[in-house]
Amino acid sequence: MDQIRREQFVDTVSDFIRTVSIVLPADVYGKFMELMRHEKSPTAAALYHNMHKNMYHARQLCRPTCQDTGVIEFFVSVGTGFPYMDDIEGVLRDAVIKATEEVPLRPNAVDPFGEHNTGTNAGFGAPYIEYDLVPGSSDLEIRMYMSGGGSSLPGRSKVLMPLEGRDGIKRFVKETALEWGVNACPPLIFGIGIGTDASTSAMLSKRALLRPLGTHSEHPEAAKLEDELREELDETGMAPLGFGGSFSVLGVNIECAARHPATLGVGISTGCWATRRGHIVIHGDLSSENLSHTVFPERSHEKTHKNTDNI
Ligand code: SF4
Repeated sequence: MDQIRREQFVDTVSDFIRTVSIVLPADVYGKFMELMRHEKSPTAAALYHNMHKNMYHARQLCRPTCQDTGVIEFFVSVGTGFPYMDDIEGVLRDAVIKATEEVPLRPNAVDPFGEHNTGTNAGFGAPYIEYDLVPGSSDLEIRMYMSGGGSSLPGRSKVLMPLEGRDGIKRFVKETALEWGVNACPPLIFGIGIGTDASTSAMLSKRALLRPLGTHSEHPEAAKLEDELREELDETGMAPLGFGGSFSVLGVNIECAARHPATLGVGISTGCWATRRGHIVIHGDLSSENLSHTVFPERSHEKTHKNTDNI
């Protein structure tokens, strides 16, 4: 890949990271607005109003929606005909470093066995990249997630006895929500994975978290469980931000896979009210389409550093 194309590739990805850090994806924003409109508690309504104001200012001032811009994770589906397959890893890493400097993002990549912060959001094994191969395609599809500290805290994975069934799944999810949900700045998105063991159910829960709100699982029983859990989690009254209100969740998404007859693995991944995730397709000619966002931050460099005192 020549230098000019590589720079274009890095710029496309770093611009995508910038958008994701500043503007919520359309599905999360839409659901947030729906909860705000239907909230009955005056305290909760005031909190929603402030969170909305925060989103507005983030967009106007081109600053991240939340100070914790998380650790960046990429879930990449790469077509076997994509011409720059060998460059993907280096480009994603360089794009993270560039976005960290230019947006700027909070440096969050700390050595797993110490407190040394690399200062760039890149480090040993970071950014996290997971690949899927797509035969017959020449596109690169990237789903990106900014994994914040608070919103990652409720993450759990456990293997239940199969007889515990859907009641056991609900109990585990609700106990986790009540114990740790408030740390994650609710209303929350629950991604739930159901599979054989701790690792597959955890991975499925992350896939569920990445799926747009308003969609249902393809498995009819899982789709029913999504609705039941959403209603029951709303009744916990923990949102927004733990102050109590009519709703506690933005959504519950479940992904499942056939499991071992002797186990029922359940994974939980959570996203906060400021769930920042994005979905972009980069074609073989490096043109791109953002599939997750309908609103984009200003591009002006000056605006990034504008004084906010009078706004
Ligand atoms: S949980 Fe979300 S909104 Fe709260 S501090 Fe973390 S990233 Fe920010």
